[in-house]
Amino acid sequence: AKDLGKNNCQFYTREMNACIEEKLVLLEGLRSALDEGQFRLVYQPKVDLHTGRIFGVEALVRWEHPEQGCIGPDRFIPLAEESGMIIALGEWVLQTACRQNRAWQDAGLPPLRVSVNVSPRQFEELGLVQRVAQALSDSGLAAEWLELEVTEGVIMRDLQQAVDKMAQVRAMGVSLAIDDFGTGYSSLSALKSFPISTLKIDKSFVRDLGVSEGDEAIASSIIDLAHRLRLRVIAEGVETEQQKAFLRQNGCDEMQGYLFSRPLPPEQLRQLLLTHAFA
Ligand code: C2E
Ligand code: CA
Ligand code: CA
Ligand code: CA
Repeated sequence: AKDLGKNNCQFYTREMNACIEEKLVLLEGLRSALDEGQFRLVYQPKVDLHTGRIFGVEALVRWEHPEQGCIGPDRFIPLAEESGMIIALGEWVLQTACRQNRAWQDAGLPPLRVSVNVSPRQFEELGLVQRVAQALSDSGLAAEWLELEVTEGVIMRDLQQAVDKMAQVRAMGVSLAIDDFGTGYSSLSALKSFPISTLKIDKSFVRDLGVSEGDEAIASSIIDLAHRLRLRVIAEGVETEQQKAFLRQNGCDEMQGYLFSRPLPPEQLRQLLLTHAFA
């Protein structure tokens, strides 16, 4: 039994090595991926639950890896964060999303707000506010059509600094949303000092709406809390009519999820907007 344990341990170590090796390979590739143009953005519509209209899109990054094919952000964003690559990647995402949104407006589509994810390290970086201003002026996009989604993690690290930076972003006219709300540990009392406009209910609370009373209680409490703080509230990961019905009945303002649309490449999103706008 002892030998077996030892073998298991060696096997485990080999698996761990494979895992570390994979990380190293991805990390190595990450450095050149930006220069090689291997990243692209897909856009997922956000829909008003009362009017049914698309009022915005969330930009989500994809990595077209030369050997591994399309890699999702959950596999490389953490690596990009650890390595500091997130700063350059984040800047590319901001620039690309702003330019794309301006191009849709120039093409005569009804104006949309584009939301960009900003990870904690990116938010903390000194140049963030300047980078946002630069992306707006380079693209010619008006600030009101840009939103940043930040997680509670951002706020946890240094509350006062986070509030100051949020205020600078707001002062430019850019909106802010708290992403994955309910999964972090930000205190509810801190929430009232954030210059944000939207709370985003994490998809883990949306999944079992209609099934789990606990999750229903959490979702409806977040909706009430948001409204009392005069914030809008959006639910992510909406996949079923049942979830949508619950959210609508409980006063949620907006939704996003596969039920309405998967994240789409720019050209497909344009087609959807065209049919939607003139329907
Ligand atoms: P997130 O910001 O919470 O994004 C929502 C995720 O849920 C996206 O996964 C989206 O594709 C997925 N999703 C949308 N609708 C549904 C649905 O109905 N059901 C389910 N099960 N999932 C749905 P994705 O694109 O893989 O992104 C994962 C995470 O990676 C994002 O979570 C975000 O934290 C991060 N991320 C993505 N793009 C960027 C980026 O440009 N910059 C940064 N810093 N992070 C990013
Ligand atoms: Ca997000
Ligand atoms: Ca989220
Ligand atoms: Ca998430």
